[in-house]
Amino acid sequence: MWSIIGHDWAVDLLQAAVLHQRIGHAYLFTGPAQVGKATLARVFAQALNCQSDYLNNRPCGVCRACKLIAAGRHPDVRVLTPELNSRGQPVIKIEQMRELQKELSLGTFEARYKIAILADFDAANANAANAFLKTLEEPPPNVVLLLTATETDALLPTINSRCRTFQLRPLTVPQVVEALQNQWQVRPELANQLAHLANGRLGWAVQAAQDERLLNTRHEQLGWLQQALDGRRPARFELADKLSRQPEELDTILQTWLSWWRDVLLLAHGRSADLPLINADQQAKLRQQADKWTADQIETSLTQTQTALWQLERNANVRLVLENLFLIYPKP
Ligand SMILES: [Zn+2]
Repeated sequence: MWSIIGHDWAVDLLQAAVLHQRIGHAYLFTGPAQVGKATLARVFAQALNCQSDYLNNRPCGVCRACKLIAAGRHPDVRVLTPELNSRGQPVIKIEQMRELQKELSLGTFEARYKIAILADFDAANANAANAFLKTLEEPPPNVVLLLTATETDALLPTINSRCRTFQLRPLTVPQVVEALQNQWQVRPELANQLAHLANGRLGWAVQAAQDERLLNTRHEQLGWLQQALDGRRPARFELADKLSRQPEELDTILQTWLSWWRDVLLLAHGRSADLPLINADQQAKLRQQADKWTADQIETSLTQTQTALWQLERNANVRLVLENLFLIYPKP
């Protein structure tokens, strides 16, 4: 059973590969965070090592291999995830890569394939990525490499070209609503709200359904944006100072703000019906801002928020980045 929500085309292709026993050495799953890349890689790993006699029944979900892989405890399926470096950023390090390569060279213990799932491979540093190229070019027999990545720009071109790439797209609002209601028993009203906020990322929606702090955090993040927009320069700088003291939160704060500007811009341009608002529960406030500012001001705010995210990923001074951003946001 391929218990995957959405991504039907990718499931079809992977299923066909299993059915016809045409398995590549390396696969790369790309797409936004929490869209389902790691889940798809894990289910594919199950299909590859499933013990069912019937090819079209793999993964069966009930055999020893399927169960161990689901639990992350299969001896022939190794999952490599980034570790935090001294700055608190996730990184795949050369030491991790060497250890993995050693393990892959040992061959399988009990399964058909030795599988490595390299999650968030865009977090691999240059040394680790270069070391990995050797494995990618001459993989040991029966090894299948499954990579996931959000930012494909961060990958070495050779990595892209040596993998079969599956570019996963965000799910639609109805797909997320249906999954939340049917598989996670979320009540309809909340499912609808979360599906909009998730912006196609089912993983986020499921997490938010199970942990109400996520919605509260989001509410607080939007509150700070309004506080900045309502304030003049001193108030804005005070807020920049306050937010710069929680640097690990800034990425999600700015992502939330980005979703806000995107919605305001959609309304300012007279959105088409097939593009739902992310912050659909705040329509009145969005509309008010879309009417208040010029399309130019809104677009600049959107792109500068994106730039700020980019700068923070590259270790710019947090406080300066926020102050610059607040200087560009429209004045009250
Ligand atoms: Zn199975």
